[in-house]
Amino acid sequence: MRRIMRRFTLTMLLLLALVPGSWAKDVPLQNRIAELEARIGAYVPDPQYRDDVFGLIVVKEAITSLKAGSGGIGACLVDAATGEVVERGRNRQYDPYFRSDLHAEMDLLNRYEDRLRKQGGGNSVNDPRRCDNLVLFTSTEPCPMCLTRIINSGIQRMYYLNPDPHGGMVARQEQLPPFWRDFAAGRDFRQAECSPELLKIAADLFHHSMRNFTKK
Ligand SMILES: [Zn+2]
Repeated sequence: MRRIMRRFTLTMLLLLALVPGSWAKDVPLQNRIAELEARIGAYVPDPQYRDDVFGLIVVKEAITSLKAGSGGIGACLVDAATGEVVERGRNRQYDPYFRSDLHAEMDLLNRYEDRLRKQGGGNSVNDPRRCDNLVLFTSTEPCPMCLTRIINSGIQRMYYLNPDPHGGMVARQEQLPPFWRDFAAGRDFRQAECSPELLKIAADLFHHSMRNFTKK
């Protein structure tokens, strides 16, 4: 009997060790994530809204992040000339281990820049910041860190689904330090043109993110 109990305890401990973070034991949260996943799975892009196809891609990345225990934010880079998605990224702050820099937009640009390994400088004929046709989509308005990174990357067009009045920097772009504000001049950074349902999905994904439930 004692041996059975010991084996049972060991099995339980092993199961707990496999759970990726204590939040995963929050059953109501898991149910809400499953509901969100079902809404995303059922969503069909609405041709009335220009950015719906790419909006759906970033929310799919966001739900993958959320299920992995990171923030519910996803991003992608699109070649506007061809409509091809050239890179995908998502928040990886807590998975597989803590990385304070890995917001979705940072992850996306790291992957893109590491893959292309562009050479040259701003004054050369081979300016690594030239990304003429690239459009960055993200499911939530970028924070100050990510907006500065996007400006530095050379991306000229960036559209987000969910406005973040508390942590987003696009609406506060005028408050950037002068160098970054001037560097961003003339760029097209604004909310994406997506259906109300897709915008709501992006907002719900964000509101389930670590920033909210780590505060509880
Ligand atoms: Zn960020």
